Amino acid sequence: MSDPTRPRGPKIIAIANQKGGVGKTTTTINLGAALAEAGARVLIVDLDPQGNASTGLGIEADAREYTTYDFLLDEITLGEVIQKTADENLMIIPATVDLSSADIELISNEKRSFLLHDALRQHAIDAYALDYVLIDCPPSLNLLTVNAMVAAHSVLVPLQSEFFALEGLSQLMLTIREVRQTANANLRIEGVVLTMFDARNNLSSQVEQDARENLGDLVFQTRIPRNVRVSEAPSYAVSVLSYDSNSKGAQAYRDLAQELMQNNARAAA
Ligand code: ADP
Ligand code: MG
Repeated sequence: MSDPTRPRGPKIIAIANQKGGVGKTTTTINLGAALAEAGARVLIVDLDPQGNASTGLGIEADAREYTTYDFLLDEITLGEVIQKTADENLMIIPATVDLSSADIELISNEKRSFLLHDALRQHAIDAYALDYVLIDCPPSLNLLTVNAMVAAHSVLVPLQSEFFALEGLSQLMLTIREVRQTANANLRIEGVVLTMFDARNNLSSQVEQDARENLGDLVFQTRIPRNVRVSEAPSYAVSVLSYDSNSKGAQAYRDLAQELMQNNARAAA
């Protein structure tokens, strides 16, 4: 790859939006699974104390011996904290509710914004030959999300196709700008993806139109439809690609993975 901002190692993408329930975790899991299906090696970092990505990929709470919290705050190596999922190419660093105290504990730490950055740049990460790291952020612009943005090459923003969807985006963009100015000058916006899209609903179309007018090429062509299979999959502890491979949701996440890989191939050329 000749992308000057990314000389080697995996592409690191923070999946962020401070609104809850917009599809961050769903996108992290299923985009991760779709990239893995396409042959990439993918690590998900669960950075939300709710641990929904961990649960959704079948890591039971009592099997989370070491977690993102240890990875950030203790000298726990990637090898100790990484877990396999049902999908061979898809790995995860799980989270537990412990992580909710990290936000406060970090305040007095001099390197507080760089902990994930530094942890992900251990030598050991090379051994996993990862192509992508997807960070599932909490629904807040707190220090955890800042850690994700400092560690990442880019931010991918799920936008729920509903009323007020674009509200809050300016706050998110402001945070991205601050991180660029202080810690990570090369941070890019990977794209904005419309989630829970319902083509029969005027509101969805209106949100799409507004998003494309305001954000232009930043909006992915791929839209993720509202699809019951997508919402059912986590209770079976697998991605929607495994749960119902032919569902509209699975296909949409495959399309998103292809679009993302094409964008990255173009950027690297
Ligand atoms: P966030 O991580 O941003 O809080 P989630 O990914 O947990 O959001 O999604 C919120 C809820 O919406 C979950 O119950 C999830 O199953 C559901 N959901 C997300 N995407 C879809 C979709 N494309 N179709 C149907 N339900 C979805
Ligand atoms: Mg979530």
